[in-house]
Amino acid sequence: MAKSRTTHSVLLGPGDMVTKWPGIGETRALELENLGVKTFEDLLGLWPHRHEDRSVITPLWMVQDGESVTVQGIIQSAHYDPVKKILRVQIQEGHASLTAIFFHASWLKRQFEPGYKAIFSGKAERRGHQLSMAHPDFQVMTEDREPLLGLVPIYPLSGSLKQVFMQRLMRDIVPRFAPQLSDPLPRPIQEQEGLISRPEAILHQHFPPNALALEASRKRLVFDEFLRIALAVLLMHQVDPHVPGMVQKPDGPLVQRFLASLPFSLTEGQKKAWDEIQHDLRQPTPMARLLQGDVGSGKTVIAILTMLAAVDAGHQAAFMAPTELLAEQQWLVLQNFLRPLGLSVALLTGKDRHADTYREALKTGSILLVVGTQALIGDRVEFKRLGVVVVDEQHRFGVKQRARLSLKGEYPDMLVMTATPIPRTLALTVYGDLQVSEVRGLPPGRKPVETIHLSHKDRRIAYQRVMAAVKRGEQAYVVCPLVGGDDEETQAKAAVDLAEGMKKIPGWRIGLLHGKMHSKDKTRIMEQFRQGDIDVLVATTIVEVGVDVPNATMMVIEEADRFGLAQLHQLRGRVGRGPKPATCFLIADPKTDQARERLEAMVRFHEGLKLAEEDLRLRGPGEILGMRQHGLTGFQLAHPLKDLDLLQRARGVAREIVRSDPQLVQPEHQALRTWVLDAMDDGIPSQVLH
Ligand code: ADP
Ligand code: MG
Repeated sequence: MAKSRTTHSVLLGPGDMVTKWPGIGETRALELENLGVKTFEDLLGLWPHRHEDRSVITPLWMVQDGESVTVQGIIQSAHYDPVKKILRVQIQEGHASLTAIFFHASWLKRQFEPGYKAIFSGKAERRGHQLSMAHPDFQVMTEDREPLLGLVPIYPLSGSLKQVFMQRLMRDIVPRFAPQLSDPLPRPIQEQEGLISRPEAILHQHFPPNALALEASRKRLVFDEFLRIALAVLLMHQVDPHVPGMVQKPDGPLVQRFLASLPFSLTEGQKKAWDEIQHDLRQPTPMARLLQGDVGSGKTVIAILTMLAAVDAGHQAAFMAPTELLAEQQWLVLQNFLRPLGLSVALLTGKDRHADTYREALKTGSILLVVGTQALIGDRVEFKRLGVVVVDEQHRFGVKQRARLSLKGEYPDMLVMTATPIPRTLALTVYGDLQVSEVRGLPPGRKPVETIHLSHKDRRIAYQRVMAAVKRGEQAYVVCPLVGGDDEETQAKAAVDLAEGMKKIPGWRIGLLHGKMHSKDKTRIMEQFRQGDIDVLVATTIVEVGVDVPNATMMVIEEADRFGLAQLHQLRGRVGRGPKPATCFLIADPKTDQARERLEAMVRFHEGLKLAEEDLRLRGPGEILGMRQHGLTGFQLAHPLKDLDLLQRARGVAREIVRSDPQLVQPEHQALRTWVLDAMDDGIPSQVLH
């Protein structure tokens, strides 16, 4: 195997750059870098996304029309037709022959030297005696190559990288460097858990001798992914017993007055969650609680109660949203709730020109309640005494940020709110010892929102229905498309255009709301909409959270295929909040299967849980659970839902290890320590680990 190459590179180790490998020049190095590969070790961790079974080579004469097969034969000829731009390669086996056809691939011609054996994998087409295969995967057996047969890895590609190149590269690299890697998991634990060694697992992930070996390999690697994150979390969350937590006052006067001011009573689900939170708030140990509840279940009220409990105890409280826009919107909501109590809430965003004044006021303690983004835990913000932190949407706020909060010398009580249900075990792994509360059920009188997908050409139907609703005295939202990603600026422009157009049509009063507007204007427009002085609110995704106008029964989402499922679900949650039936129109001509399936899911499912499962299926766990945002390397092979038992075991092992060696300083844990530290890449203050 590849004898000529290895002689050039006797001294290379896994940590060396791949550019040292003959055959990897500048272009390929760049393309590999796009796949996250710089060193040989990175390359070893570039898992195939699947394996193709080429364990059976079908004799040419037996190949049926339409069959997906692997065949072999001696190359007879390779002809390029420059007019049709087709390359035809003919192979022969016995009396049978097959023509492989490649379009627009003249450069492939020189690889098919007549006389050599070629192996093709692909879908065969038979017309009588004529056998052909369009764009098969191929291997040409020159002297120094053994064929890749059996379970053949199929790799992710980038730029002009070719599958065959990657397969050959891996075939040379993996058996050479994998054995040089150390195994971070101590031997006794491997044995206790029935796991194979990591080097072997890596080797077999690329080139499994059989399906069983592949499964054993996956098991070890998935275990490792879980173990790594579980260890990182445990290390970061070791609560220093000398630092006391804080005691809040969940039955103080502000809490009482707030409850009395609400125009409704708490639902059973809210009461239960609030009871659990109250219990934590009274303890001197720091609260770390995840509050799950579907869109519209009423989490905001719980958040406010929790924050007021801190203020009643003489502490400050912060509400942290994932983006500035959402922070602004939440701030409007909190203000509306708290103004009747005579309480003011500060909004601290990066762009605010009062930011410096606010920072000073937080330090002296004259601001008691503040809403902001992650900037709130930035280096420049100091609190006099922060008692409670509420974090909205857990999946964009993770371990790292939490570690940083704790480092301020005290452990504030923390409530993380999410509409995305995540399994308890996973929550525990990602957040450490997090308690979970659930707000079950919706406030009384809520009905599922009828959801209709229309293509662009039928858009009018949606607007006719909106017009009819306005005539009945109801109200509507029109959500403008995200143009070019998450860009508020372009979305705002689209909203302005759409609103201008709609204003020309008589019969409805149109309002406009977007993030680029002055916050006073935003408040005014929202107020007018709430009062019923605006019939149709043309808005950006700024209406995603908090907006609550029960008389709004219609929502039109333009270019709905541009939104993710979670966001669509949040948006749709703005209607159907009163006794009248509500409708949501999704306007889209989806361009991908995924987008189409997302829309179908919205039409079929109304529960957040169902949609979260769909989202998981469509996008994979790394995306939905926001593992990337957690700042820990996301899961690659692990499926947090399907691999729950492995997750549980890895978590158990992590606890065992940390119990026996809290800082991972024992010699047998050295490799493990380095490996975990690597996962916590940047931003983790080193004292957490020393
Ligand atoms: P979530 O944040 O969980 O999606 P919200 O906190 O925005 O939900 O609550 C949805 C709406 O329901 C809000 O307008 C809120 O005022 C209202 N609400 C909350 N609790 C109740 C309740 N117990 N009864 C009636 N309405 C409620
Ligand atoms: Mg909310």
